[in-house]
Amino acid sequence: TEKKECPLFLGELGRSTWGFLHTMAAYYPDNPSPSQKEDIHKFMHLFSKFFPCDDCATHLRSWMKDNPPQAENQDRFSKWMCYAHNEVNGRLGKKLFDCSKVNERWRDGWKDGSCD
Ligand code: FAD
Repeated sequence: TEKKECPLFLGELGRSTWGFLHTMAAYYPDNPSPSQKEDIHKFMHLFSKFFPCDDCATHLRSWMKDNPPQAENQDRFSKWMCYAHNEVNGRLGKKLFDCSKVNERWRDGWKDGSCD
């Protein structure tokens, strides 16, 4: 019988959403225009209202009040996204990610060549 595809559970939704968010940050420009910076603020603001896990979205909005998006350039925005994810990791008792390696994980591949 055909295996049917089912709605995402939180773990799958979280994993794929972080994949999207970190990859978006990985390809954010080094020299963004003023309107690109403004759009990132708008995007994250709206994202934090519509991410379809109410508890997660509430936590994210509250964290973002003290930690507004840093959209100055690729390095700052990718690190900011990493800190946002680490806030969740910490709350869930997961290991924190070393944010100095965020471009290896999401853009360039690991320095040891394991993604080549
Ligand atoms: P994930 O945490 O999904 O991580 C996927 C991969 O990202 C990891 O394997 C690792 O390679 C990489 N990674 C890990 N940490 C970082 C980092 N700091 N920076 C860059 N890369 C990293 N779940 C809840 O139960 N409660 C919540 O409040 C909650 N809030 C969430 C808020 C948002 C915005 C999102 C997108 C998800 C949230 N989730 C929440 C889901 C949760 O974060 C995980 O996605 C889920 O538990 C699955 O975890 P995982 O172990 O598969 O890896």
